[in-house]
Amino acid sequence: MSVVTRFAPSPTGYLHIGGARTALYCWLHAKKHQGEFVLRIEDTDRERSTDEAVQAILDGMSWLGLDHTQGPYYQTKRFDRYKEVAEQLLEQGDAYPCFCSKERLDELRETQMANKEKPRYDGKCRNLTPEERDLSQPHVIRFKNPTEGSVKWADAVKGNIEFSNGELDDLIIARTDGTPTYNFTVVVDDWDMKITQVVRGDDHVNNTPRQINIFKALNAKPPEYAHVPMILGDDGKKLSKRHGAVGVMQYRDDGYLREAVLNYLVRLGWSHGDQEIFSIEEMIELFDIHDINKAASAFNTEKLNWLNQHYMKTMPVEKVKEALMWHLENHQIDLTNGPAIESLIPVFADRVQTLKEFANSIGYFYADFDSYDEKAAKKHLRPVAKEPLSEVQNRLNGLTEWQPEAIQSAIDSTAEALGVGMGKIGMPLRVAVTGGGQSPNLDVTLQLIGKERVSQRIDAALEFIKNREAQS
Ligand code: GLU
Repeated sequence: MSVVTRFAPSPTGYLHIGGARTALYCWLHAKKHQGEFVLRIEDTDRERSTDEAVQAILDGMSWLGLDHTQGPYYQTKRFDRYKEVAEQLLEQGDAYPCFCSKERLDELRETQMANKEKPRYDGKCRNLTPEERDLSQPHVIRFKNPTEGSVKWADAVKGNIEFSNGELDDLIIARTDGTPTYNFTVVVDDWDMKITQVVRGDDHVNNTPRQINIFKALNAKPPEYAHVPMILGDDGKKLSKRHGAVGVMQYRDDGYLREAVLNYLVRLGWSHGDQEIFSIEEMIELFDIHDINKAASAFNTEKLNWLNQHYMKTMPVEKVKEALMWHLENHQIDLTNGPAIESLIPVFADRVQTLKEFANSIGYFYADFDSYDEKAAKKHLRPVAKEPLSEVQNRLNGLTEWQPEAIQSAIDSTAEALGVGMGKIGMPLRVAVTGGGQSPNLDVTLQLIGKERVSQRIDAALEFIKNREAQS
């Protein structure tokens, strides 16, 4: 049987990090077995589903590169099919109309709760005769859950799980208005779409025995289930917005590479020895749903940052550039007005952890600045810096070759000639040409900024010092 997996999000919010991890695991399993990967939008909850959320899911999946081979299917477009299967269950005697009023059900629940019993439907309408069923009256349709025995399955992650049928009541599969309910649509879809493995969050473990019973009633083989433990925040609590558990697109916005996010996600709940770095090809080759961790995993931003920097440093420069472009546009950096961005990537990959930080750090290569970092200027653009700045400017202007080595020796020889330490020249020079106290090594920085610009900026810094002097 060929492998078919599905990712079945409800479009009620962003594609969050937990959903993205589930999607990745489904995608990897399908890829590994040259199978199909279905994207199914579970939008039957019309009040909570929105078009924006659907779009956010599609955007997130596409940014991560988790391409589906079938779909997206929308459950709201399949109502006729759910109706058909509900009719089939009614005809077979595996479902029945239930006329119990809301008031009766509320009362039942209250009594059960008062008696410390688990609230459940008591089966009042289960055995009505055809004459007793007045279908012109409002009614729901309930699935006739077996009352005896138990439901067992070998969960790929959690191992053997068993629920006694005595714990399950007769699930509503269609509401009074005829719309189908969640556990029912999932089964019909998984059946129709020939899903072989269901990988999903372990918050669905309790739904599974109900779903398996419906499969059995339809004489269909249930898929293999793999229930993935949840993701915790770094404080051990359930991951939430408080921990920055936002949509995956926020990770793009915050400057993460998709390669780093995928690598991070695959390890968040799965491991292969102590290997940390996985290319996508390696993930496909090595991933196995049976190796997913049983215990919940905790989100760790430092590790994600570390991975992101690793990929910035090791990926082909062209690929990093591709991802970086979005951020550069956001920062309105005019690439025509400075060095080739490719030459900055290796220099900055050692210094920053995200593309956003990268874009934030390189403005001075492409545009002049009209102010200095206040602290840096106060400390380094002082009258004592005038002489070193003028001297180093002279020597730099005299260079015939604008290369890091030559630039470094111009700086060194200035220090020597003036008999001062490097700090007395290096820092004023750095603040003069970059506007702040932090930059990569001066030799490369100056080289990339360009000879003419360096000289102009030293002029401007000298001017700045003079004006300050005049004011004091
Ligand atoms: N739509 C469900 C959810 O978003 C997933 C259902 C499933 O994977 O079976 O939680």
